[in-house]
Amino acid sequence: MGKPLDLTGKRFGSLIALDYTNSADGKRRLWRCKCDCGNESMVQTANLTSGHVKHCQQCGYKELAKKRTTHGKRRTKLYTKWCSMRRRCEEKACKSYKDYGAKGIKVCDEWKDPQKFFDWAESHGYKEGLEIDRIDVKGDYCPENCRFVTRLENANNKTSNHYVTYNGETKSLADMCRKYNLPYSKISYMVLRGISFSDAIKNIKVKCSSDRSQERE
Ligand SMILES: [Zn+2]
Repeated sequence: MGKPLDLTGKRFGSLIALDYTNSADGKRRLWRCKCDCGNESMVQTANLTSGHVKHCQQCGYKELAKKRTTHGKRRTKLYTKWCSMRRRCEEKACKSYKDYGAKGIKVCDEWKDPQKFFDWAESHGYKEGLEIDRIDVKGDYCPENCRFVTRLENANNKTSNHYVTYNGETKSLADMCRKYNLPYSKISYMVLRGISFSDAIKNIKVKCSSDRSQERE
């Protein structure tokens, strides 16, 4: 056994180590800690240094309860989103099926596991009040094609009702981008901010040619 650590006066979460006694078998040190709430508790050295114990028992229970409710609430809301996403794509009886499943929009295999969807959501900025948005409105529900946006952004991105006219032809923005092989996300970003489709194309082309001229230098 190495030299026992001296934790006197050190802070671990809400606890400050005051002094220690040895455990009954003499193998471990038990630190008498004072919690911010005023309680005292006895904690083993390893439990303090590992961060395993950060509060007196009472405060520990309170923290745990708090964590469970916020986590639980978020999960419940995400689960609701997951269910309605699958219903839209898979259940003919669902009112929105005609705009999703009937148009060939699917939930990717990975996301059929709700846990995988939750993990993605939480590592991609999901917060309460945000909605899931497909970047390409004709694309599937999958990690590459989805992001979280506010309700307003989502309404603006409904390109199903965003038609543009170019070279005498009128098509949905997404179809037009596909036809001319244009980067949909960049074009829609401009168009949804009031730039005309033809100006958006010019912008993209100018950008591409300046990128190329820089490469040549
Ligand atoms: Zn406490």
